[in-house]
Amino acid sequence: MTDRYSRQILFPGIGEEGQKKLGNSSVVIIGCGALGSIIATSLVRAGVGKVRIIDRDFIEYHNLQRQVLFDEDDIRNQIPKAIAAERHLKKVNSSVEIEGVVADVNYANIERLVAGANLILDGLDNLETRFLINDVSLKHNIPWVYGGCISSQGMTMTIIPHESPCFRCISANLIGRGIALTCDTAGVISPAPFIIGSLQTIEAMKILVGAKEINRDIIMIDVWRGEFSRFKIGHGADCPACRGEYDFLEAKFGTRTTSLCGQNAVQVLNPKAREVSFEKLATHLRPLGKVSYNEFMLRFRVDSHEMVIFPDGRAIVKNTNDEAVARGLYAKYIGA
Ligand SMILES: [Zn+2]
Repeated sequence: MTDRYSRQILFPGIGEEGQKKLGNSSVVIIGCGALGSIIATSLVRAGVGKVRIIDRDFIEYHNLQRQVLFDEDDIRNQIPKAIAAERHLKKVNSSVEIEGVVADVNYANIERLVAGANLILDGLDNLETRFLINDVSLKHNIPWVYGGCISSQGMTMTIIPHESPCFRCISANLIGRGIALTCDTAGVISPAPFIIGSLQTIEAMKILVGAKEINRDIIMIDVWRGEFSRFKIGHGADCPACRGEYDFLEAKFGTRTTSLCGQNAVQVLNPKAREVSFEKLATHLRPLGKVSYNEFMLRFRVDSHEMVIFPDGRAIVKNTNDEAVARGLYAKYIGA
């Protein structure tokens, strides 16, 4: 065991003591795409005692460009990401307790999924679940590390509950915008998530060993331009989450889904959405599938699914009765 981690133990920030702390730690990684792949592989190799990896998706060919935990066999065998991650990483470090969980993380299950964890790592592609993580972090005093990437850019921030500003402190202006770009519509190049995932990993290691050098800023990168910047952040003047109002955990915000009986379709409501611009949405979606719209609805066809989106953000997802699938498609293509 000492030999496996010898190079890391030689680093003064970790040492024998730090290595023991890593081994006694438990982390939850929510979302296992590009960021989650980097975080999971790094923390398992570093010898974190327990790593739970949660993801709701299967692997597709367009994931392989940046999601380093997966390969073509996983796609051929239709292995969900969480399970593929678990299988690959168990071969890397059999001394780590690795658990892949295939689930859509939502207000009803998140408290159970993060129970007992020392730290939550964000590998997500949608804002809604991040607000949920933020709520659960503050409520149960579990630090979390936010990371997000789009195009050639990325951003990360560390949230120490009731100490540092929370995610909602800084993103009050994001709520209410309704439609946000997601990686599936804007594209992403792999170095952006590789670097952000690595920065999240180092924050994780520092938090777990009890280091003092926790990052207190927002770090932003643009790998194409070679730009790295950091910004000081303050608490939101009137942040509901910091006041103990956990709106996302109590499901006061966020998408709601209803299976439409007998229609093989699910309705997704998005209370946060304002007036949806079909023209803008169509521009984002056109490279990904078949789009048509009139003033009343926008129709979008991708793979075997068809989505009909209404101006108030409501959507009908056809060819499925699975609410998690519908919610996933909505987050992926329309935004949180
Ligand atoms: Zn706050």
